Amino acid sequence: VKTLVMLLIALTAGAWGSGAADAAQPILVVNQSTLVTDEQIQDALPAFQLAVTRDFAPVWGTDATLTTDPATADAWTVTITDEPDVLFAAGYHYLDHGRPAAKVFADSMPWQLVLTHELFEMLVDPWLNRSVRAHGKWWLVEVGDPVETRSYQLPSASGLPVSISDFVTPAWYRPGTRGPFDHNLHVKRPLQLLAGGYAAYWSELAGGWTGVFAANSK
Ligand SMILES: [Zn+2]
Repeated sequence: VKTLVMLLIALTAGAWGSGAADAAQPILVVNQSTLVTDEQIQDALPAFQLAVTRDFAPVWGTDATLTTDPATADAWTVTITDEPDVLFAAGYHYLDHGRPAAKVFADSMPWQLVLTHELFEMLVDPWLNRSVRAHGKWWLVEVGDPVETRSYQLPSASGLPVSISDFVTPAWYRPGTRGPFDHNLHVKRPLQLLAGGYAAYWSELAGGWTGVFAANSK
């Protein structure tokens, strides 16, 4: 999902992964939308939790505990609203007074897909400073973007299908390594963008950030 340009240009090259698995980060899902009901969120929560703990955490080393209890201590928030507050965005993650946070806009793409996309990206790069060098460029570690249109499904508590965002693995950022390069196993090589996907890198040559999109990428 479109990352803020403002956010992109404020980014600097960060260290590549501590590698240590932290305790599960509490994530508070806040519903300010009229398009998504609290019941729908409750119903989908176990699917989100399974996706994070079973599929995502073993790959990226960061687990999360999803909750809708506003009394949860030290939680990072994911807020669902109806309309974007940034043009062309379906969601984004950012720092809210120094605390990692994400927004999901329910009126564009399926909210479950956007929520898991932003959730995964926030867990990988909560402080908006993570990039990795490959082919002479610093690639922003935004793990949903290269496979942005891809998803898989897990059952909700009531048995409805919940769309979960595909995400790339650390191997995606490492030319010359073997896969898997994404959870869904659609990506065939490092730095490959699937149709509809994109990525951003910083290079000395360009003197700034460059966005690359699937249509013009190799
Ligand atoms: Zn994204």
